[in-house]
Amino acid sequence: MTSASGDGSCIFCQSSPSRDALILVRGRVSFVILNLYPYSSGHIMVVPNRHAPNLASMSADEQAELMTLTRHAEMALTEAYAPHGINVGINLGRAAGAGVLDHLHVHLVPRWNGDTNFMTAIGNARVLPEHLGESAKRLRPIFERLAKGDE
Ligand SMILES: [Zn+2]
Repeated sequence: MTSASGDGSCIFCQSSPSRDALILVRGRVSFVILNLYPYSSGHIMVVPNRHAPNLASMSADEQAELMTLTRHAEMALTEAYAPHGINVGINLGRAAGAGVLDHLHVHLVPRWNGDTNFMTAIGNARVLPEHLGESAKRLRPIFERLAKGDE
């Protein structure tokens, strides 16, 4: 392990009731969580439990589960929101736009035709089209079903 836990300011390492309410599913070495400041409905992240900055630091186990949960996330978003497309991405480092530095996370952002124009029109502000509690209620059962299918 490169580091057992974050420095206390890492949102992925800090456990709190409000943070934990955003978690959709937990794997063995990683979890899926709703983004508190979503770019669109269903903006979720796949995060390793371990505070580690990049893919180079990931163990084989972590790599495998990150991809499994990213796959489940794609399937869950498709089922729940029927988006026209999904951005799947990792921002490594501040220059690449990472909001949380030093703790790797995979973003999944559902997209709809024309949403870019809409976002530009409102001045690049983040919108919250659906309450996060609603998103959690919608997505959690799907992730649970997908996890069972992999057992
Ligand atoms: Zn962390």
